Amino acid sequence: MPVSVAPARATIAPDAAALQRLFSLQKGRSEALRRESAAERIRRLQRLHDWITQHRDDIRAALYSDFRKPATETDVTEIYATQAEIRHAIKHLRQWMRPRRVGTPLALLGTNSWVQYEPKGVCLVMAPWNYPFYLAIGPLVSALAAGNCCIVKPSEITPGVAALIARLVTEVFDPAEVSVVEGDKDVATALLQLPFDHIFFTGSPQVGKIVMRAAAEHLASVTLELGGKSPAVIDDTADLRDAAEKLVWGKCINAGQTCVAPDYLLVHERVKDQLIEEIRQVLNRFYDAQGRGVAQSDSFARIVNGNHFRRLARLLEDAQQRGATIAVGGSVDHAQCFIEPTVLLNAPSDSAVMQEEIFGPLLPVQTFGNLMEAVDFINARPHPLAMYVFTRNAENQRYLLGHVPAGGACVNDTIVHLGHPELPFGGFGNSGIGRAHGHYGFVAFSNEKAVLQQRVGKTGIKMFYPPYTERVHKM
Ligand code: NAD
Repeated sequence: MPVSVAPARATIAPDAAALQRLFSLQKGRSEALRRESAAERIRRLQRLHDWITQHRDDIRAALYSDFRKPATETDVTEIYATQAEIRHAIKHLRQWMRPRRVGTPLALLGTNSWVQYEPKGVCLVMAPWNYPFYLAIGPLVSALAAGNCCIVKPSEITPGVAALIARLVTEVFDPAEVSVVEGDKDVATALLQLPFDHIFFTGSPQVGKIVMRAAAEHLASVTLELGGKSPAVIDDTADLRDAAEKLVWGKCINAGQTCVAPDYLLVHERVKDQLIEEIRQVLNRFYDAQGRGVAQSDSFARIVNGNHFRRLARLLEDAQQRGATIAVGGSVDHAQCFIEPTVLLNAPSDSAVMQEEIFGPLLPVQTFGNLMEAVDFINARPHPLAMYVFTRNAENQRYLLGHVPAGGACVNDTIVHLGHPELPFGGFGNSGIGRAHGHYGFVAFSNEKAVLQQRVGKTGIKMFYPPYTERVHKM
């Protein structure tokens, strides 16, 4: 079991017996957390927020050491995103915790009913490597807001951030409430044997199925935030300069290693050449303004490791062997785990780059003649996590939003929908089960207890009590 155990109080050696002890410790504490007030939960969240504020440089350094993530990208997508989630939870927690009254149907006249939110108990958060801080701490915020104890398992592929999260959790929380367990898939497998009350998993669809199978053993509820191929459709009314800018940003942030990055483009054949020219210009402006090559840019991250670099290089090579051509970019450097943003034309639809989630800065471009073709192309594949629509035509917008099932969608932008705290975030089918962020995250980690209060000595159901005489049958 290759593990990286940080010398931290809340980080434990991950053998099965130690994991069981940690789980029992949290199970014992979860009863006390169940009775806590909103003020106590808010204090815990505030401590987390303050630690992040005080350790911004450490967070930036950890992300840089793991895959040369530029500080500005870390600020926006890891630090700001996490703190915004915390502030939103703090602001709304009292209201979220309040029992939600519901109306009364005629048959139950005289009763009162409400939904009461209670913590699920002890939860597991399993995080991926691509936004390794935000995607570990963001779900933790929801788990704590809902009053749970939690074990966090960061990704082993970003060891710098995993160690930082272990340190954060040690310095901010009591291990009976929150702990970090570091390690690889063997450690994850051992964790998944435990009877958690909820498992919040972010990662690939393949591992999502393993998690769901393990959860079934204990009938634990799951949230599965998975991936897939998110298309961007650009019709012939779109503002191409604007679209190019937003597509390049969405594709190249985190070097394309983003679950909701536009995976491939479907562009109207009339505007394809112009869009590609706009994309070329934006890439130059964003990453090569000095003409020294994108590899010299401080604004472009690296592929996380050699395995993922080789996977992407293979996708590129395979596409070219099968007739695809490179319209922009194309250079790679194994020593630096660098892959240049690359626009690919004519990749066959059965090539690996059009079949697998790309998760890197390769951008295949397909064309369509009418919107129905674009819709059929997308719907022939598993439901995407996100769909992007670039258009100035309201009818086209309605058609695409109405005909493509997806976890989420953005019109005339990419990615930013996930930053809206009032929108549920998640996938559909192969791209995920359940919803995250804000109130939706709070609900995911809560048991929604349905309560009906009857008046003493009264019930409208009395007339149906046995014995079932003629009188009852006639009703
Ligand atoms: P992954 O599925 O390989 O790993 C995720 C977690 O699962 C890690 O903590 C890892 O240690 C653990 N794990 C890996 N193999 C395991 C196994 N066999 N058994 C048990 N646990 C195992 O995913 P990744 O490579 O870290 O992340 C990339 C994937 O995550 C992409 O598909 C991406 O689209 C998806 N993703 C989705 C979202 C979202 O919000 N929907 C966000 C980020 C990433």
